Amino acid sequence: MTGTDPWESARERMVATQIAARGVGDEQVLAAMRRVPRHLFVPAEVRGSAYSDYPLPIGHGQTISQPYIVAMMTSLLQIQPDDHLLEIGSGSGYQAAVLGILAREVISIERIPEVAQLARKNLADAGITNVTVVIGDGTLGFPGGAPYDGVLITAATPSIPSPLVEQLAEGGRLVAPVGSRDLQELVRLTRKGHDLTRESFGGVVFVPLLGEHGWK
Ligand code: SAH
Repeated sequence: MTGTDPWESARERMVATQIAARGVGDEQVLAAMRRVPRHLFVPAEVRGSAYSDYPLPIGHGQTISQPYIVAMMTSLLQIQPDDHLLEIGSGSGYQAAVLGILAREVISIERIPEVAQLARKNLADAGITNVTVVIGDGTLGFPGGAPYDGVLITAATPSIPSPLVEQLAEGGRLVAPVGSRDLQELVRLTRKGHDLTRESFGGVVFVPLLGEHGWK
């Protein structure tokens, strides 16, 4: 993350053409996307495509999300600097790194131990120190760290797992791709006392959330 990073211009172009041009206007989010070295979160074989406008394979049948989708979901979370966040589905750790730049602290849960280990290594290499990667079934949340100001599910779920709603703080936001295995809708829940407001933000495609409150 220095001025001599040879990938910096690729990142600038990614933010301008894929993210800002499509309507993500939150300057804090754009700044975080300019800062995180995405090439460190993709396998060496596809590093030349790290800043391209699509998801990439990271091994174990999993993917790193498309940059625009990461930016849009981050923006929907409406993160404040003091926020304590929970992410479900670490993958290679890229989204968690973006969250880590914007929030005080992030807990990210990954069910595949080798993938969790990859996320830890990538986050350390990127110099991100406020993200803790936990191995487990994220559909159960992480009660030890609750309540969370924001919860982000980065895998497709048939419905929003109830433990995650329970672990949401007053005023907290939960963003998730909800739907079938093939197509989901991006949904945001916001907690206000005992009420939850629900908003939808269009179609997305994610790998499945596998677990007790996800796909079996
Ligand atoms: N956030 C990632 C994308 C993750 S892809 C990024 O920044 O690119 C979805 C991830 O969710 C996969 O790594 C998958 O193994 C994981 N996953 C699926 N079901 C899960 C569950 N129940 N708990 C935790 N992780 C899960």
